[in-house]
Amino acid sequence: MIKIQNKNKCNGCQACVQKCKFGALNINIDDEGFWYPSVNEILCRQCGACLKCCSELNPVEVSVKPRVYAAYCTELEKRLKSASGGIFTLIAETVLKDSGVVYGAAFDENWCLKHVCVTDKEELVKLKGSKYIQSDIGNTFQDAERYLKQGVQVLFSGTPCQIQGLKKYLGKEYNNLITIDLFCHGVPSPEVWRDYVSVVSKERSLVGFSQRDKTHGVSKAPMVFTFDNGDVEIEKYTENLFVRGFIDNLYLRPSCYDCSFKGINRCSDITLGDFWGIEKEHPGFSDDYGVSAVIIHTEKGKGYFARISDHIEKIESTIASVTKENPCVIEPVTLNPKRNDFFVIWKKVGLKKAIKKLTKRRRKRLLFEFYHNLRHWLWLIKRKITNKP
Ligand SMILES: Cc1cc2nc3c(=O)[nH]c(=O)nc-3n(C[C@H](O)[C@H](O)[C@H](O)COP(=O)(O)OP(=O)(O)OC[C@H]3O[C@@H](n4cnc5c(N)ncnc54)[C@H](O)[C@@H]3O)c2cc1C
Repeated sequence: MIKIQNKNKCNGCQACVQKCKFGALNINIDDEGFWYPSVNEILCRQCGACLKCCSELNPVEVSVKPRVYAAYCTELEKRLKSASGGIFTLIAETVLKDSGVVYGAAFDENWCLKHVCVTDKEELVKLKGSKYIQSDIGNTFQDAERYLKQGVQVLFSGTPCQIQGLKKYLGKEYNNLITIDLFCHGVPSPEVWRDYVSVVSKERSLVGFSQRDKTHGVSKAPMVFTFDNGDVEIEKYTENLFVRGFIDNLYLRPSCYDCSFKGINRCSDITLGDFWGIEKEHPGFSDDYGVSAVIIHTEKGKGYFARISDHIEKIESTIASVTKENPCVIEPVTLNPKRNDFFVIWKKVGLKKAIKKLTKRRRKRLLFEFYHNLRHWLWLIKRKITNKP
């Protein structure tokens, strides 16, 4: 039976809970706000199914010789709502067009992030964009399995550990399943996020939230919060308190610092990420509204990428180009030595003070931001001079 002895070795994919036929596994939330399975020993029949489907204990086959591209959706509107090049949206629309279903992470009415199933194009907007919190997978593996057995086309998207969890849960390949995983920095605590939402809301209710509003380009993209009393708050991405703690690795899940799913070769069909450093690697390709790094692992992935080819600009790239400015694709982020302090201080003095105290604005970061802003201004001036819209 599953017993969590080392939290670094449980990524919270919940495959074990969904696999147990006897209802012997439950999900508990620990002091830091992360989900872990626990066994009811009275109900457990010691069948070992939970251990066999654990995504940490059992590797699955990974791709060899993936193809790498820089790509973006040519429809600007779609790209503006997406974190990078909008490739996820195009593939999801293709699956929906085939009467398929799409699984991904969406906020519920209380701003809790959950994996949900989307069956029509109108609902797809819920899944678009990155939400930097761990998403609750719930019983979506069981749900997706039912569709797969009925022969329905299923697109399942998520972090690499979630996709590995799904594959281990299913235990076999399905021709009608396509999987997309992401480059993943790591996932922050859902409880820290919940507290953050209550801190920003004050006496109001949060009704809208955009992690990155790309209307004026990716390099500027701020966070936008909309409240029920009509207030709209716009904040620079790197100034935002929650993002500061996220980037500083202050409250990621313990397993993220020791992530077992790093690397270019994955068990998914397609891996998506931001193509950071695109201006240097492929000068002239980016227009500052977001470019995706797309890694195609399988024939199925290749087929779907071909089907969206009329709606994208693409250029073949290399693993070295993609990972140069995005090292978290291949190695886990570093454990912040103040992480334990954070969880103690947070409980004592509240979230705002805890993050401010432990994430000092460093000179290096300020210089980095100045450099990025300067580059953006120069880019705007150049476009004006060359009369580009
Ligand atoms: C927690 C997290 C960390 C990331 N870290 C990096 C990074 O360090 N470097 C990098 O290049 N890219 C990172 N990404 C990926 C990147 O932000 C984009 O998601 C990716 O490039 C796809 O962009 P898109 O424009 O094609 O689609 P989008 O529309 O932006 O992507 C939507 C997809 O992301 C999924 N998704 C959103 N939030 C979550 C979540 N919390 N858990 C699971 N699935 C989610 C949705 O279900 C949907 O499938 C991260 C994403 C997340 C969620």
